[in-house]
Amino acid sequence: MKIRLAAILPNSNVNGEGLRKVFFSQGCHHHCQGCFNQHTWPFDGGKICDCDQLINETLEETYLSGVTFCGGEPFQQPIPFAYLAKKFKKNEINIWCFTGYTWEELQNLMKDDSNIKDLLTNLDVLIDGRFDKKKMNKKDKFPSTTNQRVINVQKSLKIGKVVLWKNNLF
Ligand code: SF4
Repeated sequence: MKIRLAAILPNSNVNGEGLRKVFFSQGCHHHCQGCFNQHTWPFDGGKICDCDQLINETLEETYLSGVTFCGGEPFQQPIPFAYLAKKFKKNEINIWCFTGYTWEELQNLMKDDSNIKDLLTNLDVLIDGRFDKKKMNKKDKFPSTTNQRVINVQKSLKIGKVVLWKNNLF
């Protein structure tokens, strides 16, 4: 399985809780106003990586608190990101994901796309919604705007409505 990535950040403490490895997806159709990562928009940019190699390397990095998917738009590359998510989850790796989609949009999309469902249902935390520079949240530890939510994915799926992550700082 191959994946197209804009970059990998080996250690980050601003893309989720604790020390995390961050996988930046290459390709995004959202084109949010004020996006800081416009180089990740083209779907023919970045570099092609082997998913199993990424997984095996990450599993050896036992000092990590978890991994974070961001963009670009991970849900516009749902097949390889679902593959990563399933393997990481199976190995009890904590997974956060930033997306330009809202939770409600993903609920609709996953009805017709099993890969989107597989990606979403294997996450621990989802930061959802388009980035909007005019709504920049300066107080928050994570790069965010006030329309975005930090969602506890497993609890939200269980009760069928959005439950915010316990340490939500928004
Ligand atoms: S979803 Fe992320 S990468 Fe895509 S345009 Fe919005 S902020 Fe940029």
